[in-house]
Amino acid sequence: MKNKKALIVDLDNTVYPVKSIGEQLFAPLFELMQEYGWTPGTDRFEGVKEDIMRRPFQKVADDNGFNAELVQRALELLRTTEYTGEMNPYADYESLRRLPADKYLVTTGFEKLQRSKVRQLGIEADFKKVSVVDPDVSDLSKADIFKAIMHEENLKPEDVLVIGDDPESEIAAARSLGMDTFLYEKEKAHPRAEATCRGSNFGDLENIFRLK
Ligand SMILES: [Mg+2]
Repeated sequence: MKNKKALIVDLDNTVYPVKSIGEQLFAPLFELMQEYGWTPGTDRFEGVKEDIMRRPFQKVADDNGFNAELVQRALELLRTTEYTGEMNPYADYESLRRLPADKYLVTTGFEKLQRSKVRQLGIEADFKKVSVVDPDVSDLSKADIFKAIMHEENLKPEDVLVIGDDPESEIAAARSLGMDTFLYEKEKAHPRAEATCRGSNFGDLENIFRLK
């Protein structure tokens, strides 16, 4: 792989495991869902809970036909939610942090919540810029942000490696722009997803860099 000047990194399930905070973070949302007929312990509810910990709430709500009033109340709740508990990056995040390239954190979610996670993780100084793509307030996509970073930093697609866990989010955005990708399969494997390289430990990434 060609030398990379810039790494664009996802946050949720890439820097830290959402499941480590998910039950606590989303407890008020899961309670609200019960008012709308969602029953704890059922396969359907447990499946949707897992999905909410992995993907933007709006997408999960759309795909699962959430009641419109529930969506409104959930949005009101999530817009003001912050996480103030302890958070820790994955142990192998240190390998990613040490890589000699400029790093940009690009994450999708509610702005206030995503910023609070960055703060609790203590990772802000690791990144040249932290960008939150918030579908609640903007139609911008991750691809739009990646393009803006390339423009601002005078980078070509081949200068950039995009690192993330979601084939349909940052990995798809990177591929659409001709950027190389590292699919991080720590929480979930995606055997059919296409990516330049993949692994479940950022130590692998170090090797890929050394072999360039
Ligand atoms: Mg993610």
